[in-house]
Amino acid sequence: MLRPLRDNRAAVNELIRQQALPHGHAFDKQYLRQASIKKFNPKAQRPMSNTKLLYTSASAFADGITISQFGRILRACTGCNRYIFVDRCSSHNCDVAPVNVAEESFYLPHMMMSGNCPGLTPKDIQAFYEVCDTCSNVYSHRYRRYHSCPQPEDD
Ligand SMILES: [Zn+2]
Ligand SMILES: [Zn+2]
Repeated sequence: MLRPLRDNRAAVNELIRQQALPHGHAFDKQYLRQASIKKFNPKAQRPMSNTKLLYTSASAFADGITISQFGRILRACTGCNRYIFVDRCSSHNCDVAPVNVAEESFYLPHMMMSGNCPGLTPKDIQAFYEVCDTCSNVYSHRYRRYHSCPQPEDD
């Protein structure tokens, strides 16, 4: 007995659909090479995350961060010339008003982590941070009396 015409059509449509479908390649070594996955050493000391560095730079413990770590967590905006937290560059808005870093309630990590990230002017940085004359770490003015130089192996 012949199949009804519409069943044939469904079978043909299914064949066409299968031919049009993309097919997968096996994930062989070639793709692993292409992905250029970077190595890491589990025994090596992990570098601090940008967020951790930002919080440490403004912490009341005033241990501070090194000047090169300080440089690593900031980017200078070519639009407004302010210094923006490196992880907020994509959402920073040059039109947002700068903040008053001298205000009692000002909390630097919050401002730098916020979506717009108003950022810091060179003057703001001067007003907020200082550099230790002994260990060269950067920490906030506000907590200078709590600063003690870190041991060399803590770096
Ligand atoms: Zn800007
Ligand atoms: Zn120091």
